[in-house]
Amino acid sequence: MKLWCELAWVGGDEPEHGVLIEIDGASIASVAAGAKPPADAERLPGLTIPGLANAHSHAFQRALRGRTHAGTGSFWTWREQMYALAETITPDSYLPLARAAFAEMALAGITVVGEFHYLHEGGNAMGEAVIQAADDVGIRLTLLDACYLRGGLDSFRDRSADAWAARVSNLRGGDTVRIGAAIHSVRAVDFESSKVVAAWATEHGAPLHAHVSEQPAENEACLEENGLTPTMTLAEAGAVSPSFTAIHATHLSDNDVTLLGFARVCLCPTTERDLADGIGPARLLREAGSKLCVGSDSQAFIDLFEEARAIELDERLASGERGRHTRRRPHRAGRAGGPRERLARRRHADRHPARACGRGNRLRRRPPRRPRRHGRRPLDCSER
Ligand SMILES: [Zn+2]
Repeated sequence: MKLWCELAWVGGDEPEHGVLIEIDGASIASVAAGAKPPADAERLPGLTIPGLANAHSHAFQRALRGRTHAGTGSFWTWREQMYALAETITPDSYLPLARAAFAEMALAGITVVGEFHYLHEGGNAMGEAVIQAADDVGIRLTLLDACYLRGGLDSFRDRSADAWAARVSNLRGGDTVRIGAAIHSVRAVDFESSKVVAAWATEHGAPLHAHVSEQPAENEACLEENGLTPTMTLAEAGAVSPSFTAIHATHLSDNDVTLLGFARVCLCPTTERDLADGIGPARLLREAGSKLCVGSDSQAFIDLFEEARAIELDERLASGERGRHTRRRPHRAGRAGGPRERLARRRHADRHPARACGRGNRLRRRPPRRPRRHGRRPLDCSER
């Protein structure tokens, strides 16, 4: 199969004209710019971009949209509403809900999602419903099954980290599904159990995610329990590595920023602003070497362009400076950084955000069923 794009962005500074994409079975075999349209190619007018990676999602929270945004409160009061929803969900009801959330993602140009999954009613039945929903929609899935041992609802929790590992080991991936690991948070998983989860992820070559420092109260409780910040606790547990993604990373110390320079950080600004979480230090993280990605998280919005836009615009409001994240800024930061920063950047040279979901090479992977195309003309943003 051949697709010829009038204009396509393939990773450079500017979109390329006349891009020919050849597809061999379930993989993209080649991408070449400056090509004439072959007679047997499907023509895609307007701008074509690669599928987007949604690195942090809780599909079930799509049902909260329009129900939790009015009135007063905080992250903690929102959480009570989220718990009330979670108590009503069964494996049977979760399949159509997750299918609808993933379908909305597909319409927004997302072709791979990292589903941070902690609904464990019926063991793996909920996770299997998520896998089925992703398959129905045709979106690639990394199911990041979260260890959750204390607090929350009974249905979130496993008896122990070993019980979590045994259960997750029974989940089956496939061509379009990967099984990954998550430590829900330092609130939900103690230090010794975090070590078990990190070791499982290493043993299985699986991506590992964790909510990190979303709220100041989480930092305070962790300091009291472990004498360390959440990031330092996770680092001591062996969790922080190039295959680790910290979610939110909003309230960090300088030392936390340095540690996360060797990992990925997923920002979810539309959720963070909805919950009044705060503004994370995205610029500092990037300059430390962190690879940044974004997620729709609570599904208040499903628009990764809005997430990326908010990273820049939120920092403008907080800093009083425009252009905090220009596209050339990383190169300038690279020259300005010290040896450790440059080393961190070389280790994380790939800019593909799908790596947060354990997805690597953009070639020889299953392409989206149809590449996303934004606009019959480059700027009108209509979709078919
Ligand atoms: Zn989350």
